[in-house]
Amino acid sequence: MSTSSRRRGIAWTVVFSAVGVGLHVLGTAVGSGLLGSTLAAVVWAAVLGHRQSAMSPFKDPPAPVAPVLELVALGPVPPEPDRRVLEESDSCVICGRPLTNADSSKARVGTQCIQVHGPRFKMVENLAWVRWSTELVAARAEQAQRQAEADAAHSRAVATHAQQYERWQEELASPEAAECRAGRDAVKARYGLAPWATPLAYAMTALLV
Ligand SMILES: [Zn+2]
Repeated sequence: MSTSSRRRGIAWTVVFSAVGVGLHVLGTAVGSGLLGSTLAAVVWAAVLGHRQSAMSPFKDPPAPVAPVLELVALGPVPPEPDRRVLEESDSCVICGRPLTNADSSKARVGTQCIQVHGPRFKMVENLAWVRWSTELVAARAEQAQRQAEADAAHSRAVATHAQQYERWQEELASPEAAECRAGRDAVKARYGLAPWATPLAYAMTALLV
């Protein structure tokens, strides 16, 4: 950094800080600290914005974006039904008479026989559960297949990214990129500490005034 640009940086810092602090003090003096602080903040934002726009032509080439592995979700599967259910019977398992009552069908015994022999509940596998488990197996197989495809696509993207990254590194090492960095450094030197000293100066003033 040359002496003249450093001197210019210090000058900017002093000017901007003085303007901001002056506005703050003035605002407080006329009984509106908020107005002064707002104006001071506007000055600070203008300094930062101006510095950013001065630096904008000196951008580094953007880094290539690394690929992200897609995690394939399980397809929609209905909620799991009960695995086992009570078997219902049309006729009494003791005497063979037909059963019409829903509770008797579940107990598999008629209202008279149940008083003597008690219920004859029988649990059986639920056919709805069997269908559901088949559906689940199919959904998992589909998920695994789509994940394998996503994995393969990701591997290809990783290889491409590695090449892009290498090219990007070469670009960064090029004389054009070095010129860019020099341009940025020159802008930074021109503004010096102004963008940071200014808000610090306001804060100090706000504490003292
Ligand atoms: Zn019976």
